[in-house]
Amino acid sequence: MSSNYEAVIGLEVHAQLSTDTKIFCGCSTNFGNPPNTNVCPICLGHPGVLPVLNKKVVEYSVMMGLATECKINSSSIFARKNYFYPDLPKGYQISQFEKPICEFGKINITTAAGMNKDIGITRIHMEEDAGKSIHDQGDDTLVDVNRCGVPLIEIVSEPDIRTPEEAYLYLSKLKQILTYLNICDGNMEEGSLRCDANISIREAGETKLGTRTEVKNMNSFRNVERAIQFEIDRQIDLVKNGEQVVQQTMLWNADLNEAYPMRGKEESHDYRYFPDPDLMPVEVNDEWMTALKNKLPELPTARKQRFINDFSLPEYDAEILTSTKELADYYENILTGTKNYKAASNWLMGDTLSTLKEMKISIEEFPIEPNLIAELINLIDEGTISGNIAKSIFPDLVETGKSPETIVKEKNLVQITDTSAIEGIVDSVLEKNEAQVQEYLGGKEKVIGFLVGQVMRESKGKANPGAVNQILRKKLEGRR
Ligand code: ADP
Ligand code: MG
Ligand code: ZN
Repeated sequence: MSSNYEAVIGLEVHAQLSTDTKIFCGCSTNFGNPPNTNVCPICLGHPGVLPVLNKKVVEYSVMMGLATECKINSSSIFARKNYFYPDLPKGYQISQFEKPICEFGKINITTAAGMNKDIGITRIHMEEDAGKSIHDQGDDTLVDVNRCGVPLIEIVSEPDIRTPEEAYLYLSKLKQILTYLNICDGNMEEGSLRCDANISIREAGETKLGTRTEVKNMNSFRNVERAIQFEIDRQIDLVKNGEQVVQQTMLWNADLNEAYPMRGKEESHDYRYFPDPDLMPVEVNDEWMTALKNKLPELPTARKQRFINDFSLPEYDAEILTSTKELADYYENILTGTKNYKAASNWLMGDTLSTLKEMKISIEEFPIEPNLIAELINLIDEGTISGNIAKSIFPDLVETGKSPETIVKEKNLVQITDTSAIEGIVDSVLEKNEAQVQEYLGGKEKVIGFLVGQVMRESKGKANPGAVNQILRKKLEGRR
């Protein structure tokens, strides 16, 4: 990007709430049911039916607001957003407009360069999802209205984001909070998390906002990053060529790696918003608010801090271990079997994460139970096996599901701590390496490393390295 321009980015994120039933009726929200089976007169918008608000939707929205330091409005209003589309049988979407349930929040991000920054949250509002048009089954377009009325929250950010990286970090943080709260599965590929990016550019130092475009249809975090970069570059090129950015809505094409215009940008007055006469204002009183505050689980930032304080972990470890709730839970489950916090962290961040990556699975699908990792750590700490042996049997653990103790016994890997056994091996190694012994005696003491290596090899890695060192030294010194 040219140094004279800076990008200004604001994100609108839709998160599908994981309630069992829809926002205004009792229909199931289950994904993947046969088309048009999760429906009733209410979510189909038949004349004369009345929506009834799902209490869980309010609870989840307030929880998200609390988790992002929003002000929670004790009274908020549902409004009708009117537009025509085949997947919207009512002809309007019930959303919130002038008075959303949450406002004025923030999310903190840390960039790779170590910059710490708050991204403001303008508002979080509740709304219903629309259905789906299906274009890829024959010549006709089909409509599946199962998704009509599935609850969403829309989280709108302030235009505080400046780079694709910041957008990525903001989104990751949002997803992390949503999944810690257990109110959304956060799956962008399946559409439970959707992101529209508003992008403009301006000359550095300028405080007014430039004309923005809105890019839709990115179905992964990486695509959001790429789409934003594409759009920033496109706008800068335009302006440099003396042209102007046109306010419009664009679609991202991940295959072609480019965004193209879809339609002129609609303004809010196009939707003829008005308060929905069928729904009462949503009242959240103090008592309910307190109950919800008490229901909040430990959030990522607090959990990370606790990991640093209670387990003396480096910030780096704590960050990775708390990146998902499942990983953090797994870590704490290891700790029920060992107090060696750092070793538990190392096993998880090292061998475990790389195994997950290789197997393309998540920690929930990892075949090794956390208590077996604790057992492995204990075997090392008790001196039964060396760290290297432990590393070498890790793949066996994954493959067989057997306990480390069983594997160590079956493979006869128990560490030799019996000094007489080690002495025997040391004697034979010294005998075979007279040249090195002479070097040692001649003052080149570093050669002891080589001799230790020889003893370890002869013991097939089973000799206790500390004991080997000690015995070797004693015997060598004895020959002076
Ligand atoms: P709409 O709902 O019509 O898209 P909003 O005013 O709700 O409009 O803004 C949506 C998003 O666009 C917000 O995240 C906001 O921060 C962002 N935004 C608004 N103006 C600009 C701009 N000039 N450049 C970049 N982002 C912007
Ligand atoms: Mg928008
Ligand atoms: Zn219904």
